[in-house]
Amino acid sequence: YQHRAAYHHEAFGSAAGKVPLGLKRKGQRILVTGGAGFVGSHLVDRLIQRGDSVIVVDNFFTGRKENVMHHFGNPRFELIRHDVVEPILLEVDQIYHLACPASPVHYKFNPVKTIKTNVVGTLNMLGLAKRIGARFLLTSTSEVYGDPLQHPQVETYWGNVNPIGVRSCYDEGKRTAETLTMDYHRGAGVEVRIARIFNTYGPRMCIDDGRVVSNFVAQALRKEPMTVYGDGKQTRSFQYVSDLVEGLIRLMEGEHIGPFNLGNPGEFTMLELAEVVKETISPDAKIEFRPNTEDDPHKRKPDITKAKELLGWEPKVSLRKGLPLMVNDFRQRIFGELKEGSS
Ligand code: NAD
Ligand code: UDP
Ligand code: UDP
Repeated sequence: YQHRAAYHHEAFGSAAGKVPLGLKRKGQRILVTGGAGFVGSHLVDRLIQRGDSVIVVDNFFTGRKENVMHHFGNPRFELIRHDVVEPILLEVDQIYHLACPASPVHYKFNPVKTIKTNVVGTLNMLGLAKRIGARFLLTSTSEVYGDPLQHPQVETYWGNVNPIGVRSCYDEGKRTAETLTMDYHRGAGVEVRIARIFNTYGPRMCIDDGRVVSNFVAQALRKEPMTVYGDGKQTRSFQYVSDLVEGLIRLMEGEHIGPFNLGNPGEFTMLELAEVVKETISPDAKIEFRPNTEDDPHKRKPDITKAKELLGWEPKVSLRKGLPLMVNDFRQRIFGELKEGSS
């Protein structure tokens, strides 16, 4: 798994000589639900690196053992196959609650399961936090803003969400998860944190999870046309995963509940994204138009003033710098240039 370690160092800039946040405070016990997934596994790397003990709880719906198996054998790491919809008894100091499919293709696959995960799963993790006095961080989403009527989106905006649409299991589910989080805070005194994460990409994303960056990169590498949905003029703002992980840790360790937008304000249309993928992978890459999915938000861009001011955080990796790091990982996994660790 050397290649994983390699991009890890690159991504988190440990060569820059800076002491990563929290390095001096050793020995916290941390639960990461969904820790075998894309974002979770990068968070776990960072927590293990700074000296914490980490328990991952994951049902492997979209996560993979390969994402965390470089920690197997480390006594500070434990992996539990468990579904957060069922109660669990553990003893930890902090809970990062990420368990939930994030790609529209995955969360629409079994919408009732998605809403159970968001509601019952979050309730269980809050009940756990209450019992053991742990600090709890919810990874919510920019989808709580729905198809936003305010641009860019500020945390005070309440959103424009369809309660009966095909995305509702996810966006209404996350809205309810935020409500539960605040009610456990107000009612039971649980220490909570809420992050609203905007589109994030990087190594270890599921290759065929249907999200736009993973689709375009996999398609361009396989010399297939990149599938642009609708007219391709809808926008998203793409954040590299190391920036997100830094923001999540700062939020957990800081004094403020949030919610905080965590995203990269650089806004791209899907056609512009296709252009960047083309520049990065191959000038011959073609695009193909497909009908768009239902209720697709027209634009999305975070206002990150609050996170800048209160967390001292802002993204550092631009799309043109981050995309090649993801392309290297996808190339290895698709073509198996490195036999070990590919899947
Ligand atoms: P992912 O699908 O790679 O990871 C989710 C993980 O949760 C997987 O390992 C999956 O197996 C696990 N999981 C799902 N349901 C579970 C259940 N019922 N019990 C136990 N484990 C379960 O997705 P990701 O991109 O890493 O997203 C992580 C979190 O961040 C999610 O909560 C997601 O909603 C949020 N988020 C991500 C993005 C993004 O762009 N990546 C944007 C907004 C919010
Ligand atoms: N819960 C859990 N682990 C714990 C404590 C609670 O999984 O260590 C679950 C519990 O099963 C319940 C949920 O969290 O379904 C909410 O717990 P809480 O104590 O807040 O509510 P109650 O059990 O009174 O409904
Ligand atoms: N999209 C696209 N081609 C694809 C996959 C997605 O043009 O192959 C578009 C999709 O319609 C949406 C945007 O890319 O407008 C982002 O979609 P994604 O599923 O990545 O995340 P979302 O922000 O919708 O949750």
